Amino acid sequence: MKSTTTTRKVNFDKELFKRSVLYNVMTLYRKTLEEATPQQVFQAVSYAIKDQIIMNWMDTQKAYEEQDPKTVYYMSMEFLMGRALGNSLINMQAYKPVKDACRELGLDLNVIEDQEPDAALGNGGLGRLAACFLDSLATLGYSAYGCGIRYRYGMFKQKIEDGYQVEVPDNWLADGNPFELRRPEYAKEVKFGGYVSVRTDANGRSVFTQEGYQSVRAIPYDLPIVGYGNGIVNTLRIWDAEPVECFQLDAFDKGDYQRSVEQENLARNIVEVLYPNDNHYAGKELRLKQQYFFISASVQEAVDKYMRKHDDIKKFPEKVTFQLNDTHPTVAIAELMRVLMDDYYLTWDEAWSITTRTCAYTNHTIMSEALEKWPIDLFSRLLPRIYQIVEEINRRFILEIQDKYSNVPGVDVNEKIRKMAIIYDGQVKMAHLAIVSGYSVNGVAQLHTEILKKQELRDFYEMYPEKFNNKTNGITQRRFLLHGNPLLADWVTDHVGNEWITDLPQISRLKIYAEDKKAQQEFLNIKYQNKVRLAKYILEHNDVEVDPRSIFDVQVKRLHEYKRQLMNILHIMYLYNDLKEHPDRDFYPRTFIFGAKAAAGYRNAKLTIKLINSVADVINNDPDIAGKIKVIFIENYNVSSAEIIFAAADVSEQISTASKEASGTSNMKFMLNGALTSQ
Ligand SMILES: *Cc1c(COP(=O)(O)O)cnc(C)c1O
Repeated sequence: MKSTTTTRKVNFDKELFKRSVLYNVMTLYRKTLEEATPQQVFQAVSYAIKDQIIMNWMDTQKAYEEQDPKTVYYMSMEFLMGRALGNSLINMQAYKPVKDACRELGLDLNVIEDQEPDAALGNGGLGRLAACFLDSLATLGYSAYGCGIRYRYGMFKQKIEDGYQVEVPDNWLADGNPFELRRPEYAKEVKFGGYVSVRTDANGRSVFTQEGYQSVRAIPYDLPIVGYGNGIVNTLRIWDAEPVECFQLDAFDKGDYQRSVEQENLARNIVEVLYPNDNHYAGKELRLKQQYFFISASVQEAVDKYMRKHDDIKKFPEKVTFQLNDTHPTVAIAELMRVLMDDYYLTWDEAWSITTRTCAYTNHTIMSEALEKWPIDLFSRLLPRIYQIVEEINRRFILEIQDKYSNVPGVDVNEKIRKMAIIYDGQVKMAHLAIVSGYSVNGVAQLHTEILKKQELRDFYEMYPEKFNNKTNGITQRRFLLHGNPLLADWVTDHVGNEWITDLPQISRLKIYAEDKKAQQEFLNIKYQNKVRLAKYILEHNDVEVDPRSIFDVQVKRLHEYKRQLMNILHIMYLYNDLKEHPDRDFYPRTFIFGAKAAAGYRNAKLTIKLINSVADVINNDPDIAGKIKVIFIENYNVSSAEIIFAAADVSEQISTASKEASGTSNMKFMLNGALTSQ
């Protein structure tokens, strides 16, 4: 893949922006700026910014068309984007000019930013990784699409009531999304259920068609992904579902009333809500529908787009790669085979050659409870043609195993088949499908990849060693330092220049200041101001005063037994008891901060939240402990609160059970903000 430059970068126009904001509140709301609500001001400002993004967006897409670079489709059930406004301004290098322009209009940009709901279309690390990759790809000038689902409700909002987590629906689209663009011209039909009929055509070939199915219309919505300082704007394309045809009376007359209603319900249900499980497979039919829905639409559009520019489908892998974020999008493999064979009339071997050079799989976990295994009856009923194709991939793979191992002394071929088959014991194993059918299998940290090769996926590594590689996770310094911690960002730039913004290793030039007393003091002053900012947030949200001079010891991540928030709170209980027994013990004051959502059905995780809040109640209200320990549970941990929390952390708790956390990324966000890691 080669990176691209656009012909021109349209720079931010401050006067145009100010006029545009005033015009927008008028045309959108029939109001003056003074009359507009904060939400309306946010909308007016965002539309004004989008107008300026659009020009670069068009230029970028035109440049890609002319230069025809290879394009990556990053396919993911989750994109944990957070807010768009501040991030877009940062990457347009327009944050400070817009802040000034807002001030001149009598507005505070921070207040405006706070009006935007987080796009929380993800659970945790996996979804945030997808968002960070999009930022990086645009900044590096790679032609890239994110492909996902436009969930009506994203990750639930967490309320704490009487110490317990309560889930509240996240109606993030209630006020409309000023950054999105509906693209009905690229709508696709996605078919579910029914049966496959086979007939032989004039050339003696078998032709497969799905019949008696229900279908939905997938409508894409595009979100701009602004690269840093390069004028490049890539696209996150998320799909909405609509009924194929409106509720029609003649359908009623034909006796298809039931099917009309069902198709309408299917469309309504499919994109309704994000499954709130992190690292846990639930095996629900609706989840498989979601997976096939956005994958079928994305694959169809990727092939259509390629064929609009090229005439030889066989060269598809030279121009397209599908990167599968975990096994959730793995039906892309069979869907691509289906499109190539059924719509483009390629033979199996031709389609297989293309598919296996197009698809690549990222493994995120080795925990058995997270591995996707679909019961054959569910899978084949919902996706009859896709199941046929998976069956054939499996049949040929088993032949390959037999071919390779039948005459190898000391190898039990049947044992190999039992362990490696894609379909076995009544289940379709998605990880096996992804490994067999792609050109790349990557782990997300060096150690994790080694464990895959030597333990979890050892048989596959022995068979296909060339496929295995490591891509250690990363984070974007643009959001998690430049935007989240402007004081430290400016300080870093003052000391080592601004190259770190697009080339993070440059930040190591700070090393020469490690022992510099003045630099140390400046750093600590900045950390202190960020702790004051977080203390203010805590006072407003928790009604608890914390001392910004105390050590801020932070554990923020999804609540999971393997992540061991329980161990952390038990340690705090031990410290408390110890201080009660020895009140005169020398003790440096500490504020323990937690933030974590538990999956709605995860009992132990939810009980841990209650325990943390109960312990907080006791400790925070014990006069013997005043000035020594505080315990804070921050409600509704998400990307936006994360930015404030990382900037203020002294200690980063990374205490997951050894080998269970494949990579982790919050560790990196903490480090970037100068916190020390406790592990
Ligand atoms: C980075 C991030 C995560 C991942 O945190 P880990 O500690 O690596 O599990 C989860 N949620 C949010 C909001 C994040 O920003």
